[in-house]
Order: sequence, then structure tokens, then C-alpha cells
Amino acid sequence: MNQSTHAIRKSRLLGAGEINVSFEFFPPKNAKMEETLWTSIERLAPLRPDFVSVTYGAGGSTRERTHATVGRLVKETALRPAGHLTCVSATRSEVDEVARSYWDAGVRHIVALRGDPPEGAGTRYQPHPGGYANAAELVEGVLKIAPFEVSVGGYPEIHPESVSLTADLDNLKAKIDAGATRIITQFFFDNTHYLRFVERARAHNIWCPIIPGIVPIHNFTQVARFAGMCGATIPAWLSHRFDGLENDPATTHLVAAAMAAEQVMDLVDEGISTFHFYTLNRADLVYAICHLLGLRPIAEPAKEALLA
Ligand code: FAD
Repeated sequence: MNQSTHAIRKSRLLGAGEINVSFEFFPPKNAKMEETLWTSIERLAPLRPDFVSVTYGAGGSTRERTHATVGRLVKETALRPAGHLTCVSATRSEVDEVARSYWDAGVRHIVALRGDPPEGAGTRYQPHPGGYANAAELVEGVLKIAPFEVSVGGYPEIHPESVSLTADLDNLKAKIDAGATRIITQFFFDNTHYLRFVERARAHNIWCPIIPGIVPIHNFTQVARFAGMCGATIPAWLSHRFDGLENDPATTHLVAAAMAAEQVMDLVDEGISTFHFYTLNRADLVYAICHLLGLRPIAEPAKEALLA
């Protein structure tokens, strides 16, 4: 019998305190979405994430809404918010102004990104003539404003615009050399992409934490479309698992929970203990996966108690 049959899976031995998570949200567009977001935040907050991050729309299109969400997180919760920031369609001083307003609002962590062209991922990127050309320049810029903690994006399947694997790793290294201290990856479905990426990054002298970005599949068609735009592949076995469920959200939900659990548990078996979840502002699947990972809710102290 194969030796590995008897190996004890690390994921079966998980105890409290061994796993760290962070959650990503997007700013709501209307009152209904706002309610959904805050219900999700209330559900997930007691899992005590390391931080929660709020995305920034193309060309600063969500600037006010991102800021309002991050501001409310600072004021009303004990969570540590990170504000995303991009270089798209803005001068350096405009971007700096947003970073400064994050700092003034009490935000100490920025996820620094180049951003996608306003026409959408996959179209040609043109830096603003007076703006930051890429994420590495942005990291350097925000650190001149204040001593932020800075995270950046990484691409297990290589960024779609990169001319080569080496160019992609050089760019990643430039972002770390500019002062970023954490890499959060684009989502992926085949763990070998992530594990190979970490190996290549280490061989490229990149030693900071590389946190896998996990997206639970609430809607396969939507996720597949988005994956196509950002260069994440959908393996045939994954499509097959959702095949025929187009009009069956209840079964899709169960399959999605099983898939995400399998992906995360396999990573735990590979020694990974920190995860970033793209929540899509929904708590249910992420909460269930965190529960499987051994996380249990701990009542949050009231903000007033923290400030006392
Ligand atoms: P960069 O690291 O600047 O790299 C982009 C591409 O340009 C790479 O192919 C790189 O090799 C190339 N490049 C960089 N510098 C040079 C150079 N000098 N010469 C030639 N080529 C160069 N987008 C949003 O709009 N809002 C968000 O909130 C957001 N959040 C995200 C969170 C995470 C964790 C991730 C992984 C992505 C997120 N994105 C977001 C998407 C991101 O903006 C896109 O993936 C974008 O295309 C690249 O951003 P980057 O910061 O990785 O860019």
C-alpha cells in the first residue's frame, strides 16, 4: 500500500490559533448592497481577521465609496482596514492625496496596485502622463507620505501583460524592494500554480509572506468570465464540476463550498497557514471555510472599550 495513504493530513489536526485570514470587500453601490456588506462584515468580524481590505474601482471610480467604507471600518469596528489604491487615470498628487486621507482617517495599511485600464482588464494600459507608471512606483510614493504597511499583488499564473516569467518576477521584486512587505495573490484554482509561484519567488530572492488569494465560486459563469480577464485559468475538472448547474443555485452553493474547502485544506497540507479571501461581500461560504480551518468566533470588544 502506498505510504501516503497513512500520512496524517495537517488539515485534520488544525487547532485554534494556527490559521490567519484576511477578507477583501468591495465598496457598495447602493443602500441594499451597503446592508449586505455590513451584514457580512458583522458575521466575519468575530473570526478576528488579520486585516480586512476594501477595493478601489478603475480610475478612482469608487474613491469616495472606498474611503467611506474604510472610514466606517476604522470608526465603528475593531478591525484593521487596508485601503486599496491604484495609479489609473490620476496624477501623482491626486493619488498622494488619497493616501494622505487614508492616513488621516486612521488607515495604516495600503494595498498598492497599478490597476486596470478604465476600459477593463485585457485592454492596453496607458499610464497617466503625470501619474505613477506602475505599482512599484506607487509603493515608493505612498511610503514617502507616511509609514504605511504596504501589500502588493502577485500572479501565480503570471500577469497577462508580462512579457516573460522573469519580467514578472523582476516586477514583483521591484515592488518588494520599494518597501512592500506582503504579496497577496490573484485567485487561482489549481494549487500547483500557487506552490510553483512561491518556489520561483523564493528563487528570485523574494522572501516576504505570499498569501494565497481564494475566491469561493458563488456563480461559476461570473467567476469564469472574470478569471478570463485577469489571466487565471479554469481547469477542465473545475468546469466539469459545475457543468449542468447553471440554473441550480442551491447545488452550485454546495459544490462551491466543497471545492473551496478542498482547495484550502490541500494548501494547509502543504504547510500554508495564512489565507486572503475574496469575499465578494458575502459571508456564508467564507465563514464555513474559516470554520473548517479551525477558526471560531470571538466576541469583539466594543470600539469604546478599545479606545478607553
Ligand atoms: P504592476 O505590478 O505594476 O504590473 C502590471 C504589469 O505591468 C505586469 O505585467 C508588469 O510586469 C508590467 N510592468 C510593470 N512595470 C513595468 C515596466 N516598467 N515596464 C514594463 N512592464 C512593466 N484592481 C483595481 O482596479 N482595484 C483594486 O482594488 C484591485 N485589487 C487587487 C487586489 C489584488 C490582491 C490583486 C492581485 C489585484 C487587484 N487588482 C485591483 C487588479 C490589478 O490592478 C491588476 O491585476 C493590474 O493589471 C495589475 O496591477 P499590479 O499592481 O499587479 O501591477
